[in-house]
Amino acid sequence: MKRRSIPLSLAAGLALAASAAAPHAAAQRGHDPATVARVDALVARMTVEEKVGQMTQLTIGVLAAEGSPQRDSVRLDPAKLREAIVQRHVGSLLNVIGGSLTLEGWHGLIGQIQDVATRETRLGIPVLYGIDFVHGANYTRGGTIFPHNLGLAATFDVALARRAGEVTGDEALASGLPWNFAPVLDVGRQPLFPRFYETFGEDPLVAARLGRAAIEGMQRTGRVSATMKHYLAYSAPRTGRDRTPASVTPREVREIFLPPFAQAVRAGARAVMVNSGEIDGEPVHASRYWLMDVLRGELGFDGVIVTDWEDIYFLHTKHRVAPTIRDAVRMAIDAGIDVSMTPNDYGFTDALIELVRDGVIPESRIDQSVRRILLLKAELGLLDAPYPDPTQRGRFATEASVQSAREAARRSITLLKNEGGILPLRKDARILVTGPAASTLTALNGGWTYTWQGTDASHFPDGPRTLLEAMLRRGRDVRYVAGAGFTEARDAGAALRAAQDADVVVVAVGEDAYSEWVGNIDDLTLPEPQLRLIEAVQAAGKPVVLVMVSGRPRVISRVAEGARGIVMAYWPGMYGGDAIADVLFGEINPSGKLPFTYPRHPNALATYDHRFTESTNNDFGRGPGGFNPQWEFGHGLSYTTYAYRDLRLDAREIGPADSLTVRVTVENTGARAGRETVLLFSRQHYASVTPSLRRLRAFQPVELEPGQSRTVTFTLAADDLRFVGRDGRWVLEPGAFDVMVGGLTGTFRVSAGGARTATATTGGR
Ligand code: BGC
Repeated sequence: MKRRSIPLSLAAGLALAASAAAPHAAAQRGHDPATVARVDALVARMTVEEKVGQMTQLTIGVLAAEGSPQRDSVRLDPAKLREAIVQRHVGSLLNVIGGSLTLEGWHGLIGQIQDVATRETRLGIPVLYGIDFVHGANYTRGGTIFPHNLGLAATFDVALARRAGEVTGDEALASGLPWNFAPVLDVGRQPLFPRFYETFGEDPLVAARLGRAAIEGMQRTGRVSATMKHYLAYSAPRTGRDRTPASVTPREVREIFLPPFAQAVRAGARAVMVNSGEIDGEPVHASRYWLMDVLRGELGFDGVIVTDWEDIYFLHTKHRVAPTIRDAVRMAIDAGIDVSMTPNDYGFTDALIELVRDGVIPESRIDQSVRRILLLKAELGLLDAPYPDPTQRGRFATEASVQSAREAARRSITLLKNEGGILPLRKDARILVTGPAASTLTALNGGWTYTWQGTDASHFPDGPRTLLEAMLRRGRDVRYVAGAGFTEARDAGAALRAAQDADVVVVAVGEDAYSEWVGNIDDLTLPEPQLRLIEAVQAAGKPVVLVMVSGRPRVISRVAEGARGIVMAYWPGMYGGDAIADVLFGEINPSGKLPFTYPRHPNALATYDHRFTESTNNDFGRGPGGFNPQWEFGHGLSYTTYAYRDLRLDAREIGPADSLTVRVTVENTGARAGRETVLLFSRQHYASVTPSLRRLRAFQPVELEPGQSRTVTFTLAADDLRFVGRDGRWVLEPGAFDVMVGGLTGTFRVSAGGARTATATTGGR
């Protein structure tokens, strides 16, 4: 049975090795001894059935009453609810049915559940409710909606990610939902992947720093648990399709995909969700190595491990590593799973009870999981206060939250091209607006917005504006022709005719909302009808500005040359229309930078930190060869200009335990105030594992008035220069390194031992 409602038309079409702890020290959270004792006493009183029930998570849809509303509020079937909570002892529920609920709707729903759990069960243990608030409170009516993580990453702003986490956590608490299935910490290395937009882009440091901040923000009250997901390497499927095998070596898994999770564990993340796919032939849900040895052993994670949707069954039905469901359950429990997002029936529950009864799984093993689950419930305060706290309502969708979401949207917008200063648009310009992304809120918000797919605008609030509305509101001379749908041709001819009377044409293109596998595609190219629309208006000979509203970089090389301006908006959320208009009209100065490499061709997919051989022409002078993306990672223009000078390194050589101080001066050489994110990369000249062309090691924003300059200081530890060797261990190899900032390069050495050997070298070219 498939879970969430999706449009029928769509439904019809879809029928290492050695241990390597460093540099992530094990991080145990200290638990209050009284709480631990309370939990232990509870576990000691529980039957096997009660324990297995705590390990079972069901989706709310299976408990709904016949004819219950599916949006705004949900009425549960008392018999089904009692069967789940009283007879089956189910400890956790999740999800929505037809979409978002109002705040009252959530309180009513949680109330129905906790009444039964606390009053009608022997031990009175409250239910833990899980929800996907992945870009703000996206399943509560009127909840604050932020840009998706990809847009947040374009701000390179750790404080903003923390703030988004705070707002999301606070609004989850106000909704009565203490377990959030966010943030996604997968590193977005495969732009076809339909969940690319949920990632913080292609760089592990950006994902680690912003992800960590988001978790700290989300968990700040202590009453909401974040969930790092989807552990591990979910975002690197070979085919680009959701839930298919990752095509990465275990070495790369450790170097690229593991660090954000390691940081999140250090930040105190209380839960983790497992990757539905596989690494090197092993489904992660069945991997004792990745779950027990690495996550628990090396990273020191002691929180709750939850499966993803139906994934234990899939070990049998899809991955085919388990000949029966019973085998699948045994494998997953052996691998270290605590909670099974079963979520439609009691097959997992029955099988696990039987396995314990038969002595195949020792009761002590399930005790470990139940203890973790109850500790989570206790530490979130649920054992004493199971009901939504009405005093938290005042923290829901406040003016300050909305301001933060607006600010995040504005900061995310990334100016990719601005030939001849076509942007900002002249005040008196006659503007034609066309394209499918101009007059929709769903595309601005993307998936996971009030409904799973985000395509049902009837859940949306009234206030927020589409791009067209935002442009009209500013009283400029704006005309509109639809031009094309996202995938179907419309009136491109009418757009061409209207373009004759315009001074400039703004074409808003991209992707409408999708989530998960529904967004699978076979071709990264922007759909043909949209390309044709752009070509049609370009034929009018008027300057064309493209606005890309998209969850991933759709290839636009056919039309990019001919466009005078190109703006990347990602999926900027509820306030995205105004944010884009702010940039087009110059009301704000854009400061976003691409958090991924924007490909020029559908098959030329390389990340910025590729190998030297991928950058050079390998074919003896014939053919194109080499690395030639449409735009590089970190690219982003501004309405002012910046100059970098005086790159200074405080040592020529450092020892393996030392740090290097790097200073660089950045000057605003243009006429507008601006915000520039300074990106610092390093490159090792020679190493035993082919070195990357460059790796991001630090980033820091500076705000500069016209003519102002500031010196930015970075501290680079020798440790930061480590890589994962072929034996799976982090290693620092001595030798020569470059440090690169804003087009300047300095060189230094790391010695095999000893301390710093020199001071003050100056780099710079
Ligand atoms: C997704 C998860 C999500 C879960 C619960 C799954 O299909 O992969 O990201 O948390 O559903 O809705």
